[in-house]
Amino acid sequence: MNYYIKNATLVNEGQTFVASVFVSDGKIAKIIRESQVPELVEGPVDNESAFNYVECEAFRQAQQPSTQVIDATGKYLIPGIIDEHVHFREPGLTHKADIYTESRAAVAGGVTSFMDMPNTVPQTTTLELLQQKFDFAAEKSLANYSFYLGATNDNLAEVVKTDPQKVCGIKLFMGSSTGNMLVDKNEVLVRLFRESPCLIAAHCEDEGVIHANTVCSKDLASKGEVILDASIHPFIRTTEACYKSSSKAVDMAEKFGARLHVLHISTQKELSLFRNDIPLKDKKITAETCPHYLCFDNRDFERKGFAIKCNPAIKSHRDREALLQALHDGLIDTIGTDHAPHLLEEKMTDDYFTSKSGFPSIQHSLDIMINVVNDLPLLVQLMCHNPAILYQIDRRGFIREGYHADLALVDMSAGYLISSNKEYSKCGWSPYDGLQTHSRVTHTFVNGNLVFENGVFHEEERGMRLCFDR
Ligand SMILES: [Zn+2]
Repeated sequence: MNYYIKNATLVNEGQTFVASVFVSDGKIAKIIRESQVPELVEGPVDNESAFNYVECEAFRQAQQPSTQVIDATGKYLIPGIIDEHVHFREPGLTHKADIYTESRAAVAGGVTSFMDMPNTVPQTTTLELLQQKFDFAAEKSLANYSFYLGATNDNLAEVVKTDPQKVCGIKLFMGSSTGNMLVDKNEVLVRLFRESPCLIAAHCEDEGVIHANTVCSKDLASKGEVILDASIHPFIRTTEACYKSSSKAVDMAEKFGARLHVLHISTQKELSLFRNDIPLKDKKITAETCPHYLCFDNRDFERKGFAIKCNPAIKSHRDREALLQALHDGLIDTIGTDHAPHLLEEKMTDDYFTSKSGFPSIQHSLDIMINVVNDLPLLVQLMCHNPAILYQIDRRGFIREGYHADLALVDMSAGYLISSNKEYSKCGWSPYDGLQTHSRVTHTFVNGNLVFENGVFHEEERGMRLCFDR
């Protein structure tokens, strides 16, 4: 099926303009500016006369009955969102999420490509296990995909064999433990930063600082001086824990010439580690933040409790404001969701230490960000263009002729109430429950296939493995 997306307002590469887009063979075949657009018929194109006077090749192709016209008048057409940071939990944790269910939630939110993290069961720390994930995704994923290889103290041989054109990156838990993925041997870190053929995406929190704060909090709690509820989280996983680890990662990347992307920046203090005086394509050290650090601050723990417990912790309103400013200033390069589903019962325990960290968000990431930052061109930059530039993704992330037709249509006047009982994510709840959005995604195209249309999924096709121009 080919598509003619008619009279959309394109938001692309800093420009906003009315145009129609012809999608053919999975690619963006033609972008026709408003001044060049003739009047067209609705529905399947069977009225040849509507096209006869058009000389343009795109219109000649559009005469075929296999072309469906979508009237996008009044809607915004953006490149599909590239979410560089998700936890789809497959294999091993599929009671709370899997590649099929979460890729479905993704396309419902206009996300057309995702990059999934290695803290599954088993952890993705060998190339064989990594290949298994690509095989699962080829079978099940509605969106395009890539997977990170997890670094450990003893898998450097696997890291150096990783193909940078076929794998998005190496995930490094820098000073923070997740199973055996803690890399705490200095000689391993040095070799990793020196020899990794791929971008290193780092979770930066210092385990020593966190441990000391935990001991202290338990002691104070035993004396009745603090209560270990959700609000203690940023006092255990502190700014200092983040900064100590991220500054070390940045130092090492500078020293050994690594390509480092620091994930989920949550503090104002860490912003001093990043630059905005060089173009993104030339940066070797970059930064991501996530919607929840921009939407919530520590005052929300009272209302949301453990629902918004995540690592790193949500910090103060000053941090939140500084992060928002950093989006405009170019100190933050990308917004990834850190979509990390857990069952609600795994979250809402009555014990701080057993409540799991993380929550789902991919289905609403764009709408949440539009609520927080009412600047669609900026969000397209941070959520679509910049991940494509930063990861050097082959022909995605922009509305350009010849690129893969990964596209989303956004209605900016059809907000909805986020409700846990309308979640597509397998865990079936949302920390944003009760939030009224201003916008909604109505159509999502992945590789030229219309996979999501006004709440209906078309699930015949599967997404593609992302390729990288490195
Ligand atoms: Zn994560």
